[in-house]
Amino acid sequence: MSLKVAQALRKIVGENNVLELPEDVLPYTLDASIIYKGMPTCVVRPHSTEEVSKIVKFANENRIPVVPRGAGTNLVGAAVPPNGGIVVDLTGMNRILEINTVDLRCTVEAGVVHAKLESELAKYGLFWPPDPGSSDSCTMGGVIAMNAGGMRALKYGTTRDWVLGLKVVLPNGEVIKTGSKTFKGNAGYDLTRLFVGSEGTLGIITEATLKLRPIPEAESRICAYFDSIEKAGVAVSKIYMAGIVPAAMELMDKGVIIAVNKWLGKKFPEMDACLIVSVDGSKEEVGALANKVEHVLKESGASQVLRATTQEEFNEIWLIRSEGATALPNVTGKMNVTHDVCVPISKLPEVFKEIRKICEKYGIPVAMLSHAGDGNVHAIFSVNLKDPEETAKAKKAHDEMCRYIIKIGGTISGEHGIGIDKAELLVEEVGPVAMELMRSIKRLLDPNNIMNPGKMGV
Ligand SMILES: Cc1cc2nc3c(=O)[nH]c(=O)nc-3n(C[C@H](O)[C@H](O)[C@H](O)COP(=O)(O)OP(=O)(O)OC[C@H]3O[C@@H](n4cnc5c(N)ncnc54)[C@H](O)[C@@H]3O)c2cc1C
Repeated sequence: MSLKVAQALRKIVGENNVLELPEDVLPYTLDASIIYKGMPTCVVRPHSTEEVSKIVKFANENRIPVVPRGAGTNLVGAAVPPNGGIVVDLTGMNRILEINTVDLRCTVEAGVVHAKLESELAKYGLFWPPDPGSSDSCTMGGVIAMNAGGMRALKYGTTRDWVLGLKVVLPNGEVIKTGSKTFKGNAGYDLTRLFVGSEGTLGIITEATLKLRPIPEAESRICAYFDSIEKAGVAVSKIYMAGIVPAAMELMDKGVIIAVNKWLGKKFPEMDACLIVSVDGSKEEVGALANKVEHVLKESGASQVLRATTQEEFNEIWLIRSEGATALPNVTGKMNVTHDVCVPISKLPEVFKEIRKICEKYGIPVAMLSHAGDGNVHAIFSVNLKDPEETAKAKKAHDEMCRYIIKIGGTISGEHGIGIDKAELLVEEVGPVAMELMRSIKRLLDPNNIMNPGKMGV
């Protein structure tokens, strides 16, 4: 079977763009979720929409699962092939097709790496606001398929707010274009938004047209340390109530600060939480905003407030945020299992407390790294995945945390998506009727269920 599939695919993409040997497909059996695995029948690397269309048509005719894949950095098992099948590696489609500095848009192929796009746009003084922490590796196709967020989402929104249109290969191999090149568009149902965040279950995105903005003239960073994480959570609301919309508000708890200190040999104050606030705009605006932020943070009970005055300090402050996820497993000797939930910001203080309580109950060490400005909390569980008992406890803690989040009006995913990880929990959040509507959309577009089956609960 594998041989026949590989032969057919070679006719479409050429001899060197199909992998089938176990050692060659090994990297495609996992993604950054670490937990989920699957062995592909083969991996194919197309270089054009036409090739993608032929691959998908062949797979559909032969009822073979197709798993689109960018860099594999998603954290929910969305890019692994649990049922085998063809993994379509889009990283070879990596051209930036247009940067239009007058109409403020660009068009990219799906495999363009986020950081590469960012650096090309910067040459023209432009940026695309969504900024996932995986920027150095994640692809624009993956970013769009996951509706990725990032640090700047509180001010600028997430991926779905910055995509004007898409080129998509449907599960029967047909190619459609959605959206337009304009900032406004009201022609029919919003198919672009249907595909954004669809986790590769409805089709393969091959090109995207994106809305751009000029890079703000200046940015300032202020870092505040609190003796309780709840106080830091309250400070987030107080900043908005003072009429300030920062570019980012990132919160790291003591676990993260201690890990970064050990990992990098730093001496950041090891208090219960640290909140980093970034403001951007014109130079005058930023100075005034930063003054206001400092004032609010002090009023909110911060024990120490530091404002970066040099580029060195600006970068230094950010280390607590940027190195947190790397530092934790290196210091704990266990794996990071990163969970992503989102709540109304007024609930942040109680959420931090409750997540700690749940994890304590199951004996799972947890550190909190949060895009606090939009109520998005990443609870990083330290788990020995080789120990089945510990892994099962971590799963119980995760499910209990998600159910609590739903109960208080939050969502089980702010930005990392559903994948395999939360497929069973989704119905508890959206309800059976909405879940059935999602499944009927899936059936309509993909009646043979070939496109990334087993993901997102559809
Ligand atoms: C260190 C780290 C930091 C992170 N920080 C953030 C963050 O700040 N914000 C955030 O939102 N996420 C974050 N993530 C998660 C992840 O990086 C994002 O979800 C990213 O968008 C995935 O891109 P990718 O290219 O790696 O996609 P993959 O992991 O390869 O795929 C993700 C999903 O998209 C589908 N897919 C991929 N390409 C296509 C395509 N062309 N067409 C259709 N479907 C496709 C796949 O089938 C899969 O379902 C982080 C991950 C890590 C490891």
